[in-house]
Amino acid sequence: MRDPNEYKEFSRLTNGSLLINEPMDRHTSWKIGGPADLFIEPSGVEELKTALFLAVEKGIPVTIIGAGTNLLVRDGGIEGIVIKISGGFSEIIADKNIISAGSGVKLNRIALFARDSGIGGLEFLSGIPGTVGGAVVMNAGAYGVSLSDIINQVFCIDFKGNEYVYSSDQLDWGYRKSIFQEKELIVTRVLLQGEAKAESLIAADMEKIISSRREKQPLEYPSAGSVFKNPSGSYAGRLIQESQCQGMQIGDAQVSLKHANFIINRGNATASQVLSLIDLVRETVKSKTGFSLEVEINILGRC
Ligand SMILES: Cc1cc2nc3c(=O)[nH]c(=O)nc-3n(C[C@H](O)[C@H](O)[C@H](O)COP(=O)(O)OP(=O)(O)OC[C@H]3O[C@@H](n4cnc5c(N)ncnc54)[C@H](O)[C@@H]3O)c2cc1C
Repeated sequence: MRDPNEYKEFSRLTNGSLLINEPMDRHTSWKIGGPADLFIEPSGVEELKTALFLAVEKGIPVTIIGAGTNLLVRDGGIEGIVIKISGGFSEIIADKNIISAGSGVKLNRIALFARDSGIGGLEFLSGIPGTVGGAVVMNAGAYGVSLSDIINQVFCIDFKGNEYVYSSDQLDWGYRKSIFQEKELIVTRVLLQGEAKAESLIAADMEKIISSRREKQPLEYPSAGSVFKNPSGSYAGRLIQESQCQGMQIGDAQVSLKHANFIINRGNATASQVLSLIDLVRETVKSKTGFSLEVEINILGRC
């Protein structure tokens, strides 16, 4: 924990929107996580640049988050400043079949906006609860389509405030992988490429996706979606199911009975309980099937 006096200048320059010791369970879909030393939701690019400038100048570590739907924050919280990309990055407009969205826009909103604009190809975003910035970083996907299939350009800034524009072919996409996982870059806006499609057809496809998610996923409990990546040649969920891990529970963290690749928070789960359960599932799957599962979620913070 740093000396709060160190943060005074921050507070002044960020219109007082800075929070100290902000519990991260308020900002993760798992509803788990200790406090961030400092926390800010910038009102736009300029405030983001100010926060970055001060953090770099003072040597304060920076963590960027979106909607926190793919994060496990450890119980010790996060050192330094957490910058949440949200409402300050919420503009969305369409030009022909291209949608320009601020990185804080939620994927569900983009799917609805595309439907209302008669732009198809983005239906798979329905029901993925994150922001488009987080989705680009993770190359999120579902039903055989990923962000890499619809990205046209990505606008971002580095920690010094320099701005860059990447085209899709520069982003070294892979399964749940993009160049942003290795570089210190913050996504601020994206251009998404769709195609003309009748609103009624888009609506029908979105409806199918949403009901399939409701049927298969334990949406009634806090989670971070799929915990493990699918190993090549198999599916993590199937391996976990075959290894009879469903229902395994440590504290309030439980391997979902509805979807084997989800770990749900049944009330007051801690990050250390989730991490112990992840280890238990990995060991069990390894010994029963020979597959080594790799986590898909991002694990952050102090032990
Ligand atoms: C119920 C449920 C269902 C889900 N279903 C799916 C699914 O079908 N497919 C799928 O792929 N995922 C799924 N997820 C996981 C998650 O929603 C996606 O990975 C999502 O795209 C993450 O976005 P986020 O804004 O929540 O990012 P966060 O979880 O906040 O962050 C994820 C990563 O991106 C970084 N990051 C976030 N925003 C930015 C930014 N603007 N600039 C730079 N870095 C940034 C963070 O540092 C972190 O490394 C699901 C999650 C839940 C809870």
